[in-house]
Amino acid sequence: MSFRSIRSYAAAMCLVLAPLTAAAQQNFGQAAGQQAVDFARLGQNQTEALQVNEAIYQGIGFGNTFLVVTPAGNVIIDTSSAGMANRHHELLTKVSTAPVRYIILTHGHGDHTGGVTDWKQDGTQILTQRLFPDFCAYQDRLAMYFARSNAAQFNFDAERLKQLQRSPRGKVTPTITFDDRYEFELGGLKFDVFHTPGETPDALSVWLPKYKVAFVGDNIYDSFPNIYTLRGTQPRWALDYVASINKVLKLEPEIVLPSHGLPIKGHEEVVKRLTKYRGAIQYVHDETVKGMNDGKDVFNLMREIKLPAELDMGETYGKVAWSVRGIYEGYVGWFDLNPATMYAASPNVADAELVMMAGGANAVAVKAQEAVKAGDAVKGLRLADAALASEPAHRGALEAKLLALETLQKSTRNGLENAWLGYGMRGVQKLLNPPTGPQGEAK
Ligand SMILES: [Zn+2]
Repeated sequence: MSFRSIRSYAAAMCLVLAPLTAAAQQNFGQAAGQQAVDFARLGQNQTEALQVNEAIYQGIGFGNTFLVVTPAGNVIIDTSSAGMANRHHELLTKVSTAPVRYIILTHGHGDHTGGVTDWKQDGTQILTQRLFPDFCAYQDRLAMYFARSNAAQFNFDAERLKQLQRSPRGKVTPTITFDDRYEFELGGLKFDVFHTPGETPDALSVWLPKYKVAFVGDNIYDSFPNIYTLRGTQPRWALDYVASINKVLKLEPEIVLPSHGLPIKGHEEVVKRLTKYRGAIQYVHDETVKGMNDGKDVFNLMREIKLPAELDMGETYGKVAWSVRGIYEGYVGWFDLNPATMYAASPNVADAELVMMAGGANAVAVKAQEAVKAGDAVKGLRLADAALASEPAHRGALEAKLLALETLQKSTRNGLENAWLGYGMRGVQKLLNPPTGPQGEAK
């Protein structure tokens, strides 16, 4: 796997795992499939910390850990996931064993806070933005939900799911919080920490004026961002990303250090990457808002809005279409102005009846297969689901659904889409190969 794709895949996996418990992250590699094992091993071949400049070192992994060395002690910025933290601790303490004076957490996702206990010493300050405890409380409140969605995405078995639901995430209590800005000096080095909401409301960035280095957490990836993530998230405000990237650009950094991936070095490269990233988010936001005001529905906009070539940065992590829907529904919520939608009835409440009128599950399953073969796998998937609403164990409909899912999986390069299609495929395969023999009508 090329470095680019490893980096993209790591990015793809990051936020989906973010609400996992520390225990779950530690065991993630044992429970998940081949892709996940590769992912969990990201950075494990690193034998020395990556030296960014004379004072800054990086542990690479599922979430980076940064060490800043000063004559008066060290500062750790982000601590990676619990499963990677020991490795980063080992690599970075080879560089310096001086006391850890501060741990700065760019936000409250578990792949940044998982190693706090590895680094915290007596007297270590833990610095976060003021909203960090609220954000962690939100994740903990929905721990059961997130455990289930992560278990689905990463193919955890029932026992693993129970463990996830039993193990509360290690609580991190900051000793210093701030609203907009916090400055401190250590060993003659000035740290300027400031609020940069984007992927999360509590996100912060760190600026070291002496080195012209900005640590930007998860507000910059090597792909279009996940303005909405499928495992579930509260709205991520596109314009927050834009404003936060502007704050960073204004500092004119020479080096930008994202918490996933490698350093972005050189002022020209920094400006190029961050300007494009900001432009892509702004474009998708503005086109969504324009379409909403023009009276277009969310599905039309999900199909229509595409990044122009000069802003296209790939969609291996976030997807423009999901972000369009995230922005749309972030602004106005779920009601689509259709009176049918305001009632407590599923959108496919009439499917079973319609399938019977169309000749039954078999006839619709044949249409589903035809749609997939004609190049419309999404339509095939919908038709197969309709047939299954009529006959949940219908073999032909299950086979058509599997074909649609496999076809979609072959055509995507997005890590999250791939994972959720895999989840769907496992569900169908279980029904196709039940332990007590086949059910339903063979086609
Ligand atoms: Zn992350």
